[in-house]
Amino acid sequence: MSIDTRLMESLDKMAEMLSSYTAETGVHFTCSEADVIAEVLYRAGHADAAAIWLGVHAEDDEPGEPDGSGDKHAFLRTDEDFIDSFDGEKALAYVESTFGA
Ligand SMILES: [Zn+2]
Repeated sequence: MSIDTRLMESLDKMAEMLSSYTAETGVHFTCSEADVIAEVLYRAGHADAAAIWLGVHAEDDEPGEPDGSGDKHAFLRTDEDFIDSFDGEKALAYVESTFGA
């Protein structure tokens, strides 16, 4: 088994784990750290997992004010009071525009 195959298998496992709705580990990472993990998932062919990861991470992101303050991924949330309430299509669009090309 080549190292590339083993690496991809490991990345597949990581994507499955990090995109689990019950993981909720994402809230403990900063926005920059969460983006790095999302980029790895995206580049490993797991765009959906990257979007879910950031959506779960965004659970604790503060919306901020119209002046642009607030946390980076807060716009992905759909309901501040409901766990795992994020816009999946918006999260996927963010992942593709940020890490694509
Ligand atoms: Zn964030």
